[in-house]
Amino acid sequence: MAEQYQVLLRHLRDITNLNRASAVLDWDQQTQMPPGGAAARASQLATLARISHELFTGETTARLLEDTAHELDGAAYDSDEMSMVRVTQLDYEEAVKLPADHVAAVSEATSLAHAVWAKARQDNHFQSFQSALERIVDLMIQRADYLGYPDQPYDALLNGYERGITTAQVKQIFDVHKPELVALIATIREHANQVDDSILHQPFDIDKQRDFALDIVKGFGFDFERGRQDLSVHPFATHFSNNDVRLTTRFLSDFLNPALFGMMHEAGHGMYEQGVAAALDGTPLGGGTSLGVHESQSRLWENIVGRSKPFWNWALPQLKAAFPTQLGNVDLDTFYKAINVVKPSFIRVEADEATYNLHIMLRFELESAMIAGKVKVADLPEEWNERFEAFFGITPPSDKMGVLQDIHWSMGLIGYFPTYALGNLLSAQYYNKAIQDHPSIPSDIANGKFDTLLSWLQTNIHQHGRKFNADELTRRITGESIQSRDYIAYLQRKYSEIYGI
Ligand code: ZN
Repeated sequence: MAEQYQVLLRHLRDITNLNRASAVLDWDQQTQMPPGGAAARASQLATLARISHELFTGETTARLLEDTAHELDGAAYDSDEMSMVRVTQLDYEEAVKLPADHVAAVSEATSLAHAVWAKARQDNHFQSFQSALERIVDLMIQRADYLGYPDQPYDALLNGYERGITTAQVKQIFDVHKPELVALIATIREHANQVDDSILHQPFDIDKQRDFALDIVKGFGFDFERGRQDLSVHPFATHFSNNDVRLTTRFLSDFLNPALFGMMHEAGHGMYEQGVAAALDGTPLGGGTSLGVHESQSRLWENIVGRSKPFWNWALPQLKAAFPTQLGNVDLDTFYKAINVVKPSFIRVEADEATYNLHIMLRFELESAMIAGKVKVADLPEEWNERFEAFFGITPPSDKMGVLQDIHWSMGLIGYFPTYALGNLLSAQYYNKAIQDHPSIPSDIANGKFDTLLSWLQTNIHQHGRKFNADELTRRITGESIQSRDYIAYLQRKYSEIYGI
């Protein structure tokens, strides 16, 4: 029974194993490797990527998929077997559209561009990054042509990170909630004197920060028997299997937030991977389904739980015990307000929940316009600053604080940014459904009990891995597609109280 399926599965496991081996090398590069290892590591990663790509796009995959589809005829849509064939077929169709020389050209252009971007950002000099970025944009336009698209080239790129969603849909979702965010931020600004966050900017011993943050994410349910945490310059989460999930973080000795909320964020990603069904592990379905859904998990734990009052009702006494000199006299209300301060800022990664999606909308407008040929790379700094002024009422003092701040474009990651904003929207949608199913969740959180929420997420989201795309999953869970209504209502409720609006 299901003989072909087993053959297919063995073939796909070989490919997944190669990709997981690459992930180990990549994790090592970002956490342990001495700088001298860079050239050899790039070559090792390229070899693994080539072998994996050849194995996956070869005729064997096509034949096994076809034979298995015949064998499974009539099986349920959401069965492991049917989902494996359906999702892998889509992966395969996309992978074979990209010629090997295009893949190599992108790999070369982006590995060169990374250093150029880092230097340009350091020197605050966009022009020295311009030609490298022009090359990448050209390659991404070419990629869109290879992949094909329903309406506009940017659709093809977007689909690589969020399967099934179109540029027009993203634009519509953004258009609906942008004016509401702008209005909310303007109102908050009139009440800015309500919140003071200076208590968070004090000296905080790094070992104590680490101990506290590890306790918190352990309490959330991140399983350290099946994962670990290390240091890196840019925090991230990765997995080698659902029993080996890696989180990274960085610490600032004079600001509490980056490590504390960063750990909650990465643990949210990590718990998603740990929650994927064992039967899917090591296959193309083992892993989070899309970047947007992934980000919904990290933002849910970081913000909806980690920046909530019930949570700090439980956690603040412990934080005060860890930092009695700095926080001994701080009450819950003051602390809660401080961690939720809203301030238009130039840097996306430092943005609060109210302004964050505007940072994304700006990038979405610019990158989709570049791919459509409507904005030239040379004009980016000016286009960036004009929009920034219109969105936030402030103008970046330098390109370093503006158009040069993000690593993504230098890595060829165009079409990626919207998923951050979609993740915020989905976090509120999923959380609302969770508390509808289990009204005790907020009071559980106030008692340091997180398993009601985590098991709801495991049952409804995590266990499915990549079986369903974001829209299918969201409809199954909430009965509707992604929307901004829940997120906006969440922000309005939260900030009305904090700012006394
Ligand atoms: Zn994230």
